[in-house]
Amino acid sequence: HMDQLVNINQVIENSIRLTENLIKKHTEHFKIEYSQNLPMVMGDQQKLEQVMINLIQNACQAVSDKKKAIFITSFFDEKKAMIEVEVRDEGVGIPQEMLDRIMDPFFTTKRSKGGTGLGLAVSSNIVKSFGGKIEVESDLGKGSVFKIFIPTRKFEY
Ligand code: ADP
Ligand code: MG
Repeated sequence: HMDQLVNINQVIENSIRLTENLIKKHTEHFKIEYSQNLPMVMGDQQKLEQVMINLIQNACQAVSDKKKAIFITSFFDEKKAMIEVEVRDEGVGIPQEMLDRIMDPFFTTKRSKGGTGLGLAVSSNIVKSFGGKIEVESDLGKGSVFKIFIPTRKFEY
């Protein structure tokens, strides 16, 4: 699967289709902004969809009411040769001192709601296996943004 040419906008679209009901349940303000000039990346489409689905689920669980928005954006950073996908939410946010630990396996604040604490650990490993990374920024009480960076390379046809 690793040697697939993957269209990241297609990954986003599939992930949204699979989480459509969840998204509708949690927010009335869901917005996607696709960049139209994304190069293809080498990767595993299903695994990248799993990453997106994990981040979308977390965003849905973070928003306290349906007036809070969730945004998904894709763009290509030509200088870094990276595609960046952002999943941004106007949710509860993450305390600064917790940010270092949220990617750790089994770290969860949702223990009572059946959280496994594996979503971000698995997602981070998947993205790393394609040479990328996940970065997080958060403002407590205002929201969070998870940025997925995936390296691209030029292909000769
Ligand atoms: P789980 O969702 O099962 O708890 P994850 O690995 O997906 O496990 O996330 C770990 C923890 O990171 C969550 O329990 C939560 O505390 C925090 N977290 C992740 N995404 C968000 C988000 N969008 N907003 C606020 N907190 C988040
Ligand atoms: Mg999760």
